[in-house]
Amino acid sequence: MDFSVSEITQQVAQTARDFANQRIRPNVMLWDESQVFPVEIFKEMGQLGLMGVLVPEEYGGAGLSYFEYKTVIEEIAKVCGSIGLSLAAHNSLCTGHILSFATEEQKQKYLPRLASAEFIGAWGLTEANTGSDAGNMKCTAVKKGDEWVINGTKNWITHGISGDVAVVVCRTGEPRTKDNSTAFIVERGTPGFSGGKKENKLGMRASETAEMVFDNCIIPDSQRMGEVGDGFRQAMKVLDGGRISIASLSLGIAKGAYEAALQYSQERYQFDKPISSFQGISFKLADMATEIAAADLLTMQACDLKIRKQPMTREAAMAKYYASEVAVRVSTEAVQVFGGYGYTKDFPVEKFYRDSKLCTIGEGTSEIQKIVISREILRK
Ligand SMILES: Cc1cc2nc3c(=O)[nH]c(=O)nc-3n(C[C@H](O)[C@H](O)[C@H](O)COP(=O)(O)OP(=O)(O)OC[C@H]3O[C@@H](n4cnc5c(N)ncnc54)[C@H](O)[C@@H]3O)c2cc1C
Repeated sequence: MDFSVSEITQQVAQTARDFANQRIRPNVMLWDESQVFPVEIFKEMGQLGLMGVLVPEEYGGAGLSYFEYKTVIEEIAKVCGSIGLSLAAHNSLCTGHILSFATEEQKQKYLPRLASAEFIGAWGLTEANTGSDAGNMKCTAVKKGDEWVINGTKNWITHGISGDVAVVVCRTGEPRTKDNSTAFIVERGTPGFSGGKKENKLGMRASETAEMVFDNCIIPDSQRMGEVGDGFRQAMKVLDGGRISIASLSLGIAKGAYEAALQYSQERYQFDKPISSFQGISFKLADMATEIAAADLLTMQACDLKIRKQPMTREAAMAKYYASEVAVRVSTEAVQVFGGYGYTKDFPVEKFYRDSKLCTIGEGTSEIQKIVISREILRK
């Protein structure tokens, strides 16, 4: 694996960094405290190519690789985890599912709109009673002639209210049977489809998380993606890529918290010395830097395998599991380095601390990642 950062990756990083500093940083706390999902920021990111990073140019995207994608999510999350999370959900869940499994006609119709951010994307798998056990979903789609009738509620959906288009995985067969779910594309405005309750969250507060409600929502068969019965398998493949997103999001949060702690430790004096001169603090910085570097390498390994179209379920789960736990540890220690000031909203580390926890939960909890990793390593 080549560890050098290519010129194109550096350029993309600079674009994302400049945008984050100029357009996101000034409003981070305002959006966080008021739980505003700033749609206009995503439209601006669409103009920069950040909303369709992996979408080929022929469909209006930036046509870049997973290395650039990782970099974009990281740079944005260094400044605001919420915007990073929404960017990740749009790019790799909704857009990624359509890119991987839609028909040519569906790709032509949706990918240019998603890549430009004319459409904000949502992706619905989770339900109130089926999170880790997503295969046991209750939301159904029943075929009637050339149409499907969807009934049920998807919970915890990023952009559940504001999404212009959603990929939704519904049960189309008997409960607890193989091949019993199918994926569909549903546009906002379709009768019977509406946004529901918005969650009031600990962190990631500017990323909208809400229910998507389907009440006799009728869509034509042309909105089905792939074969009937293939929905859960598709979703698991989408989540392999999604785990690179959450690993990158975790890295961005960890790096943001670490950089803030590093700087503060050299500026804050106690006992007539910068606190970085105390081993109790410098060893924290050493642990943070080491764990971030290890998480970075795991994530790059998963990107490299994905780019080369090699199996990467185990490596993506390892990257997501490790990087997300590192984000929590690093942001916790960053608050400690800041002392009492870290416990206030005047400094950025309390937000990194709150935002980081989502990374160990979303797109499969740490426990579920360990199930995936152990299943892969024990497989003959
Ligand atoms: C901010 C946010 C955004 C989200 N965005 C989306 C989205 O856009 N689309 C979407 O579909 N979903 C989304 N989700 C849902 C997310 O993927 C689920 O919350 C997650 O998969 C966990 O499911 P759960 O919350 O129901 O927890 P549960 O599955 O109820 O788990 C509770 C606890 O039990 C543990 N557990 C469960 N099963 C096992 C087991 N077999 N072995 C060991 N431990 C186990 C879990 O690890 C966890 O610690 C989002 C969630 C959040 C918080």
